[in-house]
Amino acid sequence: MIIKKDPSIIQSYLEDSSNLAGGHALEVVIPKDFLEASSFLKEANDQKISVTISGGGTGTSGGRIPFGGAVLSTEKLNKIKTPASGGPKKNKISCEAGVLIKDLKEYAAKKGLFYTYDPTEQSAFIGGTIATNASGARSFKYGSTRESVNALTICLADGSIFKIQRGAIKAKDGKLKFEAGGKNYQIPVPTYKMSKTKNSAGYFAERGMDLIDLFICQEGTLACILEATLKFNPKPEDILSCFAFFETEEEAMHFAMEARDISKAKTRKNEKDIDALSIEYFDKYTLNLIRKKSRNVPDGSKGCVFFEQEISKEKEEAIINGWEGLLTKYGSSLNNTWVAMNDKDRQNLLDIRHSLGESMNEMTKANNFPKVTTDLAVPSDKLEDMMTYYKKVLDALGVQYFLFGHIGDSHIHMNLMPKNETEFTHSKNAAMDFIKKSVSLGGTVSAEHGIGKLRREYLKILYGDDGIKEMLEVKKILDPNLILGRGNIMSL
Ligand SMILES: Cc1cc2nc3c(=O)[nH]c(=O)nc-3n(C[C@H](O)[C@H](O)[C@H](O)COP(=O)(O)OP(=O)(O)OC[C@H]3O[C@@H](n4cnc5c(N)ncnc54)[C@H](O)[C@@H]3O)c2cc1C
Repeated sequence: MIIKKDPSIIQSYLEDSSNLAGGHALEVVIPKDFLEASSFLKEANDQKISVTISGGGTGTSGGRIPFGGAVLSTEKLNKIKTPASGGPKKNKISCEAGVLIKDLKEYAAKKGLFYTYDPTEQSAFIGGTIATNASGARSFKYGSTRESVNALTICLADGSIFKIQRGAIKAKDGKLKFEAGGKNYQIPVPTYKMSKTKNSAGYFAERGMDLIDLFICQEGTLACILEATLKFNPKPEDILSCFAFFETEEEAMHFAMEARDISKAKTRKNEKDIDALSIEYFDKYTLNLIRKKSRNVPDGSKGCVFFEQEISKEKEEAIINGWEGLLTKYGSSLNNTWVAMNDKDRQNLLDIRHSLGESMNEMTKANNFPKVTTDLAVPSDKLEDMMTYYKKVLDALGVQYFLFGHIGDSHIHMNLMPKNETEFTHSKNAAMDFIKKSVSLGGTVSAEHGIGKLRREYLKILYGDDGIKEMLEVKKILDPNLILGRGNIMSL
């Protein structure tokens, strides 16, 4: 076990991508295997030392930032296990929590498998993505990280190591019952109603739920994830990736909504051969950022949609025709579209997509004020209401903003870029307004980034004090000394 006490080394574990300041820790402990992780947690639990689990540090909610105690870094738990060569296990790979998403994807691709549950940020660890139930553009077709998790090996706060197989333990009479490390647990399933959208807000709760789902999206508050067995999809023959440009934001939005509906409605899909892998939207301001990266954005465009579809040689023409018909219906055309059908061109498009985050971070630095963002998803029939509300409030606010993201999942990231204290206050008030609006429409307060330490207030709006109490009750059973992930999801 590696233990680091040098303040300059500890410093790099006191930040993530959230700008949350003030973190501090006594030491960073880096186990090399599961037994070391277990013995460290047992000792910390006996001595009631708080432990913050660290993944890749790409989180945007301050979840891995410690406020006292020790950091348990999973960086050396980084082995990928060879998948079974046949049978029902052939599309599954087991890997330890500290494996980089990027490495897992590359490994899988060599085995003919396709990992589609990943966040845009490829230096996240698999453990971090499970702990936050991360998702990405391709979650439109295949769902969030939760959908991929078939088994987990976890270490509870008392050091007991426990393997959970999906399907093995389900809640009965409102309780999840299981035995781990010689103890019998009976966990009451929280009674709050979860939004049916993509969701990374608090503990999973559902009648008859699977035990494994409790440990996905728990943000390091219930257990340390040591290893996961993940489900992969077969690697497609090819992927069509496109940036399409529209004269108005409304046309871009309605194009995206119809593409979503066709893709989700199986019978209509067959008619048009449209079955999107991802559908992303960019408003006119975000499109201006894309313009700075490429001179080929058609003049006069005010809205943009990025979409992808898995294709085969056999269906390529029909699929392209399907998309062309839809583009034309909304005043665009294939001539107005950047199309990639090979790895190099696709990477260029993805690089442009990924560079938007960096551009906004640079602007934040130049403004010298934190950007104010939301991570809201609403039910698909409420997307238009939410978009209209965003535009109405943001246009009246007068603060620079960008609206873009996973429109296929009715999940748009709102980014406000204040330049002074007054703008910052107005931006925070507007964000709170959007959060309340999302909840009133049946949406969530965090679709993919998690609650961490920065969105606890939002979680209260979603589930009320009673919902938070129910989560605390779950935590107290699994972590009675409250050592794990203090300050994440609930204030302690
Ligand atoms: C440019 C950029 C783009 C992004 N795009 C997306 C996106 O498209 N979709 C998306 O979902 N997110 C996105 N994110 C956010 C981030 O990548 C995800 O939240 C990711 O899942 C965090 O993983 P990590 O390993 O970096 O976790 P960390 O930041 O290290 O930790 C996140 C949380 O998980 C807990 N944790 C970490 N490992 C474990 C473990 N082994 N066991 C238990 N708890 C653990 C931590 O305690 C913490 O609470 C983006 C971030 C950036 C900077």
